Amino acid sequence: MTSSSSPADLPSDTVAAPGALTGLRAVVTGGASGIGSATAQTLAARGARVACLDVNPASVTPPLLGVRCDVSDDGEVATAVAAAAEELGGIDILINNAGIGAQGTVEDNELDQWRAVLDVNLLGIVRVTRAALPWLRRSTAAAVVNTCSIAATAGLPRRALYSASKGAVLSLTLAMAADHAAEGIRVNCVNPGTVDTPWVQRLLSAAADPEAEREALRRRQPIGRLVSAEEVATAIAYLAGPDAGATTGTALAVDGGMQGLRLPPP
Ligand code: NAD
Repeated sequence: MTSSSSPADLPSDTVAAPGALTGLRAVVTGGASGIGSATAQTLAARGARVACLDVNPASVTPPLLGVRCDVSDDGEVATAVAAAAEELGGIDILINNAGIGAQGTVEDNELDQWRAVLDVNLLGIVRVTRAALPWLRRSTAAAVVNTCSIAATAGLPRRALYSASKGAVLSLTLAMAADHAAEGIRVNCVNPGTVDTPWVQRLLSAAADPEAEREALRRRQPIGRLVSAEEVATAIAYLAGPDAGATTGTALAVDGGMQGLRLPPP
């Protein structure tokens, strides 16, 4: 027997595996599909207990907890966040992921559409965060991750409303990080590129030539393929957990190089 101790000698509860979220309690909005569903499953696989707040809670299967919530409805958000916190025994991690798309120029979308999309993509985050903050303040591992988009800064054509909504999410992320750093609440966002989720599959199936459209999307990505929901989920789980304890106010691109690399068009 030697006098020095290696990690293997230590009691198991003193050495957390990298990425472990054991015992943490997480709320994921839009957790019934795509990036939100993959994130909820990744968080759970790493040891967190997870409630998915979604307009479609029937698609959420155990051990994930499905809670009905339209993030554009003040009353539903208050009720759902309280129900999730009660069921989980608190909230350490909030993933603001629910979002909807819109295509068109500033003229193409009527003002009612602008209000409706901003009500989900921007004000949904405001509502859910306001409801969750009292719980996050009681946590010793509090983290918020917002699902933003490369649309926030990329200047994509015919995406005026969607881009503006995500630009606001980026700014809100930075402002929230500043406001809550002293309380120990970290706030970051991910900026996915084109992710192969039911959302994108719906867009492709509505195209005149879905296969040609998929090929065009693929060629737009420097890595030569779409991003998977699991790849975005892994980035979100990192930002949500103690491994990212010194990281707040950042936007992590998970975009196959779309934004950072300046490559000639394919
Ligand atoms: P998705 O359509 O597969 O899943 C979205 C989920 O949000 C669904 O479960 C839906 O029921 C839920 N939802 C929609 N409106 C809601 C509301 N008002 N209240 C509660 N839940 C609601 O979409 P996805 O591709 O997984 O997108 C998730 C997030 O990722 C969105 O914020 C989106 O803007 C962002 N994003 C997606 C891509 C992409 O290429 N798929 C790229 C960048 C950013």
